[in-house]
Amino acid sequence: MIFEFCREHKDLWLCTQRFHLVLHSTGGTRPDCSYERLTEAEACGAIGWSQTELARKVWVTLRSVNIKGLPEELEIVRACEARLGWQSTPQVAIPEDAKTPLSRRSLSDPAAMAAELCRKACSALPAIPPDKAQAYVEILERAWGSLDTVDGSVSQVEEFARGILGRLARQPGFVVFMLDVSDDDECAQVSAILQGGFTGVRVWRNGRERLLCAAPTGV
Ligand SMILES: [Zn+2]
Repeated sequence: MIFEFCREHKDLWLCTQRFHLVLHSTGGTRPDCSYERLTEAEACGAIGWSQTELARKVWVTLRSVNIKGLPEELEIVRACEARLGWQSTPQVAIPEDAKTPLSRRSLSDPAAMAAELCRKACSALPAIPPDKAQAYVEILERAWGSLDTVDGSVSQVEEFARGILGRLARQPGFVVFMLDVSDDDECAQVSAILQGGFTGVRVWRNGRERLLCAAPTGV
């Protein structure tokens, strides 16, 4: 990996044919930025990160943007996963029946949706390393803003999800819930469709009997 670094503002870009902002204290390039080209080891030294931490930040950065069809970026993502010990995640294809829609009744029943979310997470998702689940939360934070998370037993997560979905179902603009399971993001998600938008509750399986759940703060 090759980086460009502005020492003054501590802005670090990963250089491929494109540029990806890995660390930004100022939100990106400023007129007075002066960049130097760094190797991976030099970048670690300049910022004070371990190589593991750098690999994690690069992984989060690249997974936060659409890198489909970009072989260079995909290769870097795989190299980071190898360094982080994440490549051992079994690539279990999610069974088709895990994706089938729920009954009509469940689609507006918060308790049923919370139970189904956890049931699908446990039956359809691979158990991933806890630090990989946390990295997925960081990606989601970039998209959804501040999140509340619960990392716990299946029943703890179900209770947390039930509370959030209950509040969403009582909102005046609430339309319906939808449940999806994503191979690509290794998560299950209930989306609450609201008039003029949607919000979601997302779950990863970060252990045999353990789930990590995230939802936007303030729901
Ligand atoms: Zn700068």
